[in-house]
Amino acid sequence: MIETTNKPVVEDTEENRAICRKYCRNCQNYKKHQLDKFQPTELFCARGQSSCTGMKMIGCFCTGCELYAKYHQRGGFYCVHR
Ligand code: SF4
Ligand code: SF4
Repeated sequence: MIETTNKPVVEDTEENRAICRKYCRNCQNYKKHQLDKFQPTELFCARGQSSCTGMKMIGCFCTGCELYAKYHQRGGFYCVHR
């Protein structure tokens, strides 16, 4: 039997972006650093960290997000690092 080690990854879909917007856009980190002005603007866990640099990590809502639970993600702060 061949064992697969591929972990499921969050897909970059409009549906997932809409889910993300419920959390990221309301979080302190997002508002404080105006992350809507940098790319990518959302779904950091799928699309990579924000191009905004020098962020302080002051609060993350990822742990409440259904995609966080569904994909067994850890850590949060995906706008800062993967
Ligand atoms: S885990 Fe975080 S970055 Fe990923 S969709 Fe949810 S709120 Fe957005
Ligand atoms: S990844 Fe976490 S810290 Fe960054 S904007 Fe989304 S909820 Fe906030």
